[in-house]
Amino acid sequence: MTPDLIKIRKDFPILDQNVNGKPLVYFDNAATSQRPQQVIDRINDFSLLINGNIHRATHFFANRTTEAFEGARETIRRFLNAGEPSEVIFTHGATESINLVAHSFGEAFINPDDEVIVTEMEHHANIVPWQMMCERRGAKIKVLPFGDDGVLQLELLDNMITSRTKILAVTHISNSLGTVNPIAEIISLAHRKNVPVLIDGAQAAPHFSIDVQTLDCDFYVFSGHKMYGPTGIGVLYGKRKWLDLMPPFLGGGEMIDRVTFVKTTYNEIPYKFEAGTPHYIGAIGLATAVEYLNNHDIASLNRYEHDLLEEASFKLKQIEGLRIYGEAPDKAGVISFNIEGIHPFDLGTLLDQLGIAVRTGRLCADPVMDHFGVENMVRASFAFYNTVQEIETFYMALIRLKAMF
Ligand code: PMP
Repeated sequence: MTPDLIKIRKDFPILDQNVNGKPLVYFDNAATSQRPQQVIDRINDFSLLINGNIHRATHFFANRTTEAFEGARETIRRFLNAGEPSEVIFTHGATESINLVAHSFGEAFINPDDEVIVTEMEHHANIVPWQMMCERRGAKIKVLPFGDDGVLQLELLDNMITSRTKILAVTHISNSLGTVNPIAEIISLAHRKNVPVLIDGAQAAPHFSIDVQTLDCDFYVFSGHKMYGPTGIGVLYGKRKWLDLMPPFLGGGEMIDRVTFVKTTYNEIPYKFEAGTPHYIGAIGLATAVEYLNNHDIASLNRYEHDLLEEASFKLKQIEGLRIYGEAPDKAGVISFNIEGIHPFDLGTLLDQLGIAVRTGRLCADPVMDHFGVENMVRASFAFYNTVQEIETFYMALIRLKAMF
């Protein structure tokens, strides 16, 4: 069933405006998505009427925000089907969630000569924290490559995992290639060799229902701002069995049990990993975004986004000299490409003049650029509020710009 686009687009007031004199076409959803009115209203209500720091006082405001914050944790628990709310930790984003795991898991479990496996298609956020940790702990990174079609070479994974492999970190959906990785298969392969798995769900959580218990992943991370929620809020799901054994990441208020100058003891999870005042209004806004998604049929939104992808891929392939990077059979609404003879930055700037927002650059994925031997790419990425008409506008704009060069 096609979603009710008129109604949906009304929920996202930012979309209804002109940019550079043209109706906005927002195709940069993989970088950040827009927020529905419901999320904006909830954040406003808490800023206007009910602001009080959580967990710290007995007054009306503090009680209301604490309830809403813990309610948000329960909403996220249900969204992920986590076993218990304590396994849901609020962070500032997917990046911080991965840094938390790399740091704390590294402190607890990584020794010299141990190995961490990542893939060639990771966002920098799922490479650099592991590298930093490996440098600290004397461990090394191994990289699972992908083929030119953008599909991971899974047949190599079994042999890559050794008795020294301590964790595997892989993206659910590549932000540059759009590849949807077979994470259930990857997780079960790794688990057969007792290797825990972190899934970077930054690009997947906006599009799929996630079930961390069925997937059996050890960690799952995502950001609020890519899934119709606020910036500055993210989630780390972790199995209790790991989180209990991992030392805190940041020190400060809330993460402690008792502080003395001789010795400090730490709080239980999730608070052990939530030092300082969290972005509680962000967490409440994120829960509202999840409720918004839950009020729709997420699977049918995702099918519609896939139709947009197919339509855009079909159109773009008709443009001579246009190369699409990443053509995995299982692909999400992301198309990265270049047009021969046109610098991606020129293309991005000129598209902007026509009211079309796309991402240009290295897409925080230098190894993907190196794989294809390019400096930059242009990326269009879709959300369920985009339309077939917008894809037509985009296609016509590319034809027009190509003719100019
Ligand atoms: N992983 C992937 C796959 C991403 O696309 C992004 C954001 N571009 C991140 C991690 C980092 O997310 P954030 O910047 O919200 O921390």
